Amino acid sequence: MLVLGLWLTNCTPRYAAPSPASPVSGLPTGTGGQPWWNDTVFYQIFVRSFYDSDGDGSGDLKGILSKLDYLNDGDPAANDDLGVTGLWLMPIHPATSYHGYDVTDYYAIHPDYGSLDDFKLLLAEAHQRGMRVIIDLVLNHTSCQHPWFQSAQDPASTYRDWYVWSQTEPVGSGWHPSDAGFYFGIFQECMPDLNYTNPQVEAEMKNVVRFWLEEVGVDGFRLDAAKHLIEQGSIQSHSPATHTWYEGFRSDYKAINPQALTVGEVWDSSVAVKAYLEGEELDLAFSFDLAKAWILSARLGKAEEAASLLKREAGLFHPNQFAVFLTNHDQDRIMTLLADEMQKGKIAASMLLTAPGVPFIYYGEEIGMLGKKPDEMIRTPMQWSAQPNGGFTNGQPWEAVNPDFTTKNVAAQSKETGSLLNHYRKLIHLRRQYAALRIGGYLPVTASQPSILAFLRHSSSPDETLLVIINLASEPVSDFSLSLPEGPLLGSYRIAPVLAEMKLDGFTENLPATSTGGFGEYRPMTSLPAFSTIILQLLPVE
Ligand code: CA
Repeated sequence: MLVLGLWLTNCTPRYAAPSPASPVSGLPTGTGGQPWWNDTVFYQIFVRSFYDSDGDGSGDLKGILSKLDYLNDGDPAANDDLGVTGLWLMPIHPATSYHGYDVTDYYAIHPDYGSLDDFKLLLAEAHQRGMRVIIDLVLNHTSCQHPWFQSAQDPASTYRDWYVWSQTEPVGSGWHPSDAGFYFGIFQECMPDLNYTNPQVEAEMKNVVRFWLEEVGVDGFRLDAAKHLIEQGSIQSHSPATHTWYEGFRSDYKAINPQALTVGEVWDSSVAVKAYLEGEELDLAFSFDLAKAWILSARLGKAEEAASLLKREAGLFHPNQFAVFLTNHDQDRIMTLLADEMQKGKIAASMLLTAPGVPFIYYGEEIGMLGKKPDEMIRTPMQWSAQPNGGFTNGQPWEAVNPDFTTKNVAAQSKETGSLLNHYRKLIHLRRQYAALRIGGYLPVTASQPSILAFLRHSSSPDETLLVIINLASEPVSDFSLSLPEGPLLGSYRIAPVLAEMKLDGFTENLPATSTGGFGEYRPMTSLPAFSTIILQLLPVE
């Protein structure tokens, strides 16, 4: 169905590794020579649902600007903000549908969201606070109402070959009949796939990328539907041509800004995801497998799934060069999957924010917002307060706020010491404080009880070692021990708690390393409370 010959020979030169240290937009580079994104906790925002600044019922860019203090107040010493250091804005362009994944103009801002100047102001203010901003880039398809597709209805149009056509009825899924012929759109009728074997399409998208990176100054892109870019015959995902295309794409965007990030939505097994991170393709991609394992472990109160997947991912990906999350805008919300059990939500957050990789939080997750498909219901307005419409808008919200806003909201949870929101805040700030959590290696620790998930995070520059212990069960665990057969430890350690939300009974302050650099049958305390997260620092004894 697609012709590849010209494309493959016409490929841009292979990517040359950028020098990692050149600062962009005055923002700090990464710790220990690692990329900046390893120091980042991202927050995913559906703009339409975050905060409405002008009372038209739709969230907007000025709304995000006015809520920046909630996300990151720019003062690293103050811990009363959420502390996230990156934003992923879901599509901000003019589009046909409310969600924005059917773009009609890649160079503009959706009128419901504001203007390009509003966006530049938000970006400048975010940068000022040390936050990066990435935007959704919907490469695979446009809206059927995009002027390119409208023009392509005419077989003589120069835009005709920007899409994928067939004059005879094709076999296979994803084809749609029209007066102008059959066209391909893998997702739906009004999302026609662009034809990336056409060099004009590639050149245009390169312009789009250049515009946002260079003229506007975004820090990167989340790549929507990354595995579907180019179909080859019956191959509709992960085609060799798609992988080759990303190599050329990488050399293009890294030439514009060597620090720019791409994080791919490759919704598939981690083995398939890995293929995009092996060569010179994407910087990061989400691990859907790990998310599934965390949710299962949190639901069942058993560590096995999480432990086994964490170990597998650590062996599969380059250290920390993958993105982690619990659920996103295409899935039922995490707190719905956990039957609204706040303690389980805390445990899920603990796993997410102490794990290797780059964490992404879906807006509202930090206050335990609920949501079950259809899609609109997992993208409802943010619950800011007990005010009408959850404080989201002074007008009629585009979609009703979940009625539980009267009790479940930012204002209430800010005041409550033991809230889910304050748990997220604490963990995010700990991650900012301890490099081992951000860039450290991952070493699984064996626990004597099935409800305990334990691991070591260890970085060598700076030299820092943390032991994370999570009890996933609804019951306390007593008389447990932890073992690390092999590891980086040497000599003796004094143990200092960096996170413990309770008094540690029978705390063992000294830990001698074994001859293989690990430890055996360490009993840090006599009992571990239900649903508890403990983080201990191992300080070498001189
Ligand atoms: Ca508005």
